[in-house]
Amino acid sequence: MNIDNLLKKETFTKDELVFLLNCEGDAKTKLFSHAAEVKARYVGRKVYFRGLIEMSNICRKNCLYCGIRAGNKQVHRYTLTDEEVLDAALFAWKNRYGSIAIQTGEVSTAEFTTRIETLLDKINQATNHELGITLSLGEQTEETYRRWYNKGGIRYLLRIESSNRELYSKLHPNDGHHVYDERVECLRALKRVGYQVGTGVMIGLPFQTLEHLAEDLLWMKEMDVDMVGMGPYVEHPSTPLYQFRDTLLPLAERFNLALKMTALLRILMKDINIAAPTALQAIDPLGREKAIKVGANIVMPNITPGAYRNDYKLYENKPCVDDAADDCKSCLEARIQLTGDEIGYGEHGNSKHFYRRNQKF
Ligand code: SAM
Ligand code: SF4
Repeated sequence: MNIDNLLKKETFTKDELVFLLNCEGDAKTKLFSHAAEVKARYVGRKVYFRGLIEMSNICRKNCLYCGIRAGNKQVHRYTLTDEEVLDAALFAWKNRYGSIAIQTGEVSTAEFTTRIETLLDKINQATNHELGITLSLGEQTEETYRRWYNKGGIRYLLRIESSNRELYSKLHPNDGHHVYDERVECLRALKRVGYQVGTGVMIGLPFQTLEHLAEDLLWMKEMDVDMVGMGPYVEHPSTPLYQFRDTLLPLAERFNLALKMTALLRILMKDINIAAPTALQAIDPLGREKAIKVGANIVMPNITPGAYRNDYKLYENKPCVDDAADDCKSCLEARIQLTGDEIGYGEHGNSKHFYRRNQKF
């Protein structure tokens, strides 16, 4: 296989993707610059903010990789008050972030569904309906997704974590609450309701091969999602998967793979939104900037009140846990300027793919 010929193609086979995921040196430089060109041409050199509110770390699930899984009894559990969520949303609005993302562990009670509805109302009223709101609140019924959509949630992020069934089952307990098909069905329900739908995978997981990652890329293309957030797996000592830490790729290698995945995804799915995940920065202080240079166009500055950030630790070395929202803003601004991209202040930065997908019908 020849890199110059491959990069002229619009789509790739699994073997070609494995080849590209393996490339280094000159070939990798060509891959990255091609991805940068595709990004500039199809979505422009603009980066959009989603102010991230980690609203609660209470979770009913036990994903084997996650630091806030229900079984981790060392975690101090918290839920922000409505006022705290509103303050964070107002900060985003006043600073012209354009969008926020609300994330929690998975809770599926009637009270939770209603609380999110009420909160969406309050946020929209307080911010003149000007913020684009992304939700990342786990697996829910279609009815729940619809209720939140009707209150102004316009995007939903639900990572598949790994599109390979067998690998998925190694990452989750076999207890009837972590079912691959149900997760896929949730993504389909989100599309039916009308959200801009996002998914993603972790990179560098135990038992994961380059073939799995190539399959993930093809799966995301086939699912025709509007947004992707994917990043390196970073182990957490109080999780069952930690026992496999000696089998993992070194962190620098996971990081390198995450950048190649980002570049390849941009080439495969030219007009979607791709987030530069915070987990990249846990490995390399310039992680997010590097992802922006090879295709990412979304960053998620953390605007969770500082006191809670340490309790939302999905993995080791979570960055920015001691920062205040203001610090995150100025730090990111400077960092994005270094990439040569512009920040889309005050804009939603919705997925261009979403609009194109809906024009077809
Ligand atoms: N509970 C919701 C869910 O699972 O969809 C949303 C919050 S969950 C904490 C958000 C994402 O964190 C997950 O989709 C997973 O990919 C990521 N995550 C969890 N543990 C991680 C780890 N150890 N390393 C990297 N990412 C991790
Ligand atoms: Fe809960 Fe999400 Fe963590 Fe799984 S990944 S344990 S659903 S917070």
